[in-house]
Amino acid sequence: MKWAVISTWKMSLEGCRKAADLLAQGKPASEALIVGIEDVEDNAGFTSVGFGGLPALDGHVYLDGGYMDGDTLRFGAVGALEGFRSPIRIARSLADREFNNFLVGEGAGEYALKNGFEQRDNLTEESRKRWEAEKNKSQKLVSYDGHDTVCFLAKDQNASICAGVSTSGLFLKETGRIGDSPVCGSGYYADSAIGAAAATGVGEEIMKGILSHTAVMYMNAGMRAQEAAEKAVLDLDLQLNRRNGSCDAISLITLDRHGNFGVGTNIVFPFVYACEEKEPKLYLARREGNHCIYEQVDDITTVKQD
Ligand code: ASP
Repeated sequence: MKWAVISTWKMSLEGCRKAADLLAQGKPASEALIVGIEDVEDNAGFTSVGFGGLPALDGHVYLDGGYMDGDTLRFGAVGALEGFRSPIRIARSLADREFNNFLVGEGAGEYALKNGFEQRDNLTEESRKRWEAEKNKSQKLVSYDGHDTVCFLAKDQNASICAGVSTSGLFLKETGRIGDSPVCGSGYYADSAIGAAAATGVGEEIMKGILSHTAVMYMNAGMRAQEAAEKAVLDLDLQLNRRNGSCDAISLITLDRHGNFGVGTNIVFPFVYACEEKEPKLYLARREGNHCIYEQVDDITTVKQD
């Protein structure tokens, strides 16, 4: 396959179409991935990413984003960033530096301001109302409906692979909480000589298994993208169930250096895939025993939005 792209959740369908068009025109994976993720960041209807993201306990929307270039292994990331339009674009620019690649909180904001990144108040009236209604309920942090990370993995016609993620993290998180998403190795990993992976779900679980790097190393050891994704997820699920009695929601997408994809999940998980031979389509993955299976879903109205 000359090019391929995979992305998480139904909310990424339109962005994946845009990314696929760019890859088909021969544009770089990094450009396609940013256009795809920004499509989700800019849509106030998606309450787990960018504009309209659900707030932390303190009522502020803090965003996390991460990017990795599979040719150079350079990565950039922002955590707990407030007041900017596109965490993925800022993360991408941080990957060009030798040091100071992962900035959080005020420092991330200062960098974004100094470098002219577009500012935006990401708290919408709808997100504020939901926060108002739920802030006093004692709530276990889970990756429940409406709170998921958009992840993109793209391979371009020059065989370059990159990974990118963007999220507002968990609704009602504590101020300063950062999940797996901007953490290189856990939330995303890319090596153009092997492939890439990215995760969504409860960050505190995903980080226990350094999930994305683990899956890429499985591909390096010879596993197919699908085997690598399901082994990484289901092994972690097994270990956490054995040790702690439970494992919260975790899902993982993988893409090998040829453009083949894989998916691992312990929930019901929608994702989108496109390549030279296949137009962007929505798929639904679920666990079945020791494997994860998926099917293409045509009637997308029957699938949950996030
Ligand atoms: N992984 C994200 C976090 O823990 C949330 C998600 O993907 O649902 O912040």
